[in-house]
Amino acid sequence: MSVTHENALLDDALWAGRVFDGQWVAAQGGQQAVVEPATGLLLSQPGIANPQDIAQACAKAASAQREWAKVGPRQRAAIFRAAAGHAEAHFDELALYVARETGAALFKGEHEVREAIVLLHQAAGLLAQPHGVVLPSEGGRLSYARRLPHGVVGVISPFNFPLILSLRSVAPALAAGNAVVLKPDPQTPVSGGFLIARLFEAAGLPKGLLQVLPGGADAGEALCSDPRVGMIAFTGSTGAGRKVAEVAGRNLKKVALELGGKNSLIILEDADLDLAASNAAWGAWLHQGQICMASGRILVHEAIADALVQRLVAKARSLSVGNAARGEAALGPLINARQLQRVDSIVQASLQAGARLEAGGEYHGLCYQPTVLSAVQPGMRAFDEEIFGPVATVVTFSSDAQAIELANQTEYGLSAAVITPSIGRAMAIGEQLHCGLLHINDQTVADECVNPFGGRGHSGNGGSVGGPADWDEYTQWQWVTVKDTPPAYPF
Ligand code: NAD
Repeated sequence: MSVTHENALLDDALWAGRVFDGQWVAAQGGQQAVVEPATGLLLSQPGIANPQDIAQACAKAASAQREWAKVGPRQRAAIFRAAAGHAEAHFDELALYVARETGAALFKGEHEVREAIVLLHQAAGLLAQPHGVVLPSEGGRLSYARRLPHGVVGVISPFNFPLILSLRSVAPALAAGNAVVLKPDPQTPVSGGFLIARLFEAAGLPKGLLQVLPGGADAGEALCSDPRVGMIAFTGSTGAGRKVAEVAGRNLKKVALELGGKNSLIILEDADLDLAASNAAWGAWLHQGQICMASGRILVHEAIADALVQRLVAKARSLSVGNAARGEAALGPLINARQLQRVDSIVQASLQAGARLEAGGEYHGLCYQPTVLSAVQPGMRAFDEEIFGPVATVVTFSSDAQAIELANQTEYGLSAAVITPSIGRAMAIGEQLHCGLLHINDQTVADECVNPFGGRGHSGNGGSVGGPADWDEYTQWQWVTVKDTPPAYPF
């Protein structure tokens, strides 16, 4: 059941059994059905890459990259601007496809396409920036250092925000002169891969520079070990990231890891209760909680905990779950049955361990009701684990010191937030939180494509950024000296 219409950029027939190497070619790994989570309709049957497909893609990418590195910056930048133009021209079509394929509300699909346009313009802007420095040296000798591409960059991305999370690496990596082999999650092959292929195809990117091959862990590991790949940019779970780091490390590749999170939203006793409840609900339930920055722990001062829980329960009961891409519900389904069972098993295990079910805890199909658990404590799965489902996990504290201790009681370190009118107190708390992203008077989910984004500990190994720091990620230094004539050495 294709979602294609006349003059559309996306055409499910193009990738039926195929992957993209500049053209649409048969995948040796076979094909796999992609089903819309909200309706069960078949969306597409794209090709699935096996390790042989990946090896061929890496060889083609390496060959295309040698020519790309010679293309001037203005010509390269024009391709990114043209791709952004195609995304604007097809905005509604792309947003709906992303929403349907990811099981999201339409506004989330629109958000991804809007951010994609920003990322493409930023990649064009990257090409107007200096990419080297002149170094002090003796007279008659020019000494400088410049940034050169890695060659081929491998990008591996997840299902939840596939368009942004693929493109935030693909666009700057290509702009910096690399070729890219992109392996999106096979559950979201179009949003995370073929949509990007179509934008660049329409924009005239030279063939072979971008290879798009949905596939599983075997394809991902093949990418991490291929000798032609200089760097891996991975976004996904901490478990898979650890394997990626092992394989990339064994093969001496640079690797950038953006991993999971268990993020605390701390609400102090002087917070406005209605605003605090709105922030907690948004942070915990946005895109069904399937966000690395989701507010996975709502830490509330004990003096206002009951009042906050009451408000959260009212919100949970007022939110419908269903086909959010078509505007028929506020929240959409979870991505698959395995994830739904995992979410439910965490809720059930926490209830058995003494947590209280205030709302939700039920599901139909893949639709999990927004859920509120109170009396949650360390040692319960809802406290300890990243849930990746619409569960607001309420934990109480009695002092700022205890709130800090509870928030830091995790091996993750991605995002944290504090809500209170006492800004100085919030900043003092924030100073002591182990996180890469900190928001005062907001919830934990935010990313604007220009901010340093990244986590500590089990949330990642650095920060990927829009703008100048993309040069750091997607290029490497080369030191160059130039003299008029070679010197005469003592022997
Ligand atoms: P996942 O790790 O299962 O899959 C992510 C990608 O890795 C997919 O393309 C998958 O096919 C691939 N993969 C899986 N095993 C692999 C292996 N051994 N070698 C190479 N590739 C492999 O993650 P998911 O369930 O799709 O996504 C959810 C997770 O991603 C959550 O933990 C979430 O917090 C995290 N995430 C992090 C960020 C961030 O920027 N920090 C953003 C989004 C999601």
